Amino acid sequence: MQVFDTKNPRETFLLGRNLAVGLGAGSCITLVGDLGAGKTALVRGLADGLGADVQMVSSPTYVLVQEYPARDTTLFHLDLYRMVDAQGELEELGMEEMLAGGVVVIEWADRACDALPLERIEIVIEITGENTRRFTIKQIRNFVTVHRKEPRKNTNKHELS
Ligand code: ADP
Ligand code: MG
Repeated sequence: MQVFDTKNPRETFLLGRNLAVGLGAGSCITLVGDLGAGKTALVRGLADGLGADVQMVSSPTYVLVQEYPARDTTLFHLDLYRMVDAQGELEELGMEEMLAGGVVVIEWADRACDALPLERIEIVIEITGENTRRFTIKQIRNFVTVHRKEPRKNTNKHELS
C-alpha cells in the first residue's frame, strides 16, 4: 500500500502520469472517492502518461465508456456515477475484451464491487482540504473462492433411532 498527498490538481495530474509507467494492456485501476475528489483529474494524468490526448478526458456524461487511443495501447475510461444498475452494466461491457485491448480505469468503482476484475489497482481518494487530496493505492489480488456446501453434521446412532 502506498499513500500520496497532493496539494493541487497539477500534483494529482503528475501522480497519474507517474502511475501510468508500467501500465499496459490488462491493467485495471479502480477509483473510489466522493464527487470532486479528483478521480477525473487523476485520469488526465494517466492519459497523458500513456500518450493519449488529455483534452479528450472529461467526466463521462451519459456514456459509460470513453476510449482514448494511446501510444502503445488504448485507455478505456468508465464512470459508474449515473448508472442505475452499475453492476449489471459493467458485467455487460465485456471487461475481458477491454483488458485484452488496453488499460481500464473505472470511476465510482465501489458501485459495482462484485463485477470488478479480481486483479486491479485500487485507489481511494480522500478530500483532506480545499486543495489537498490523499491517494491510497493498493494492489488487489482476489482469488476465486470455491463455496462448498456446509459439511453434513455427524449423525450418531442416538439421533437415528
Ligand atoms: P471527480 O472526478 O472525483 O468527481 P474531478 O477530478 O472532476 O473529481 O474534480 C476535482 C476538483 O477538485 C476539481 O475542481 C479540481 O480543481 C479540484 N481540486 C482541488 N485540489 C485538488 C487536488 N489536489 N487534486 C485534484 N483536484 C483538486
Ligand atoms: Mg469524475
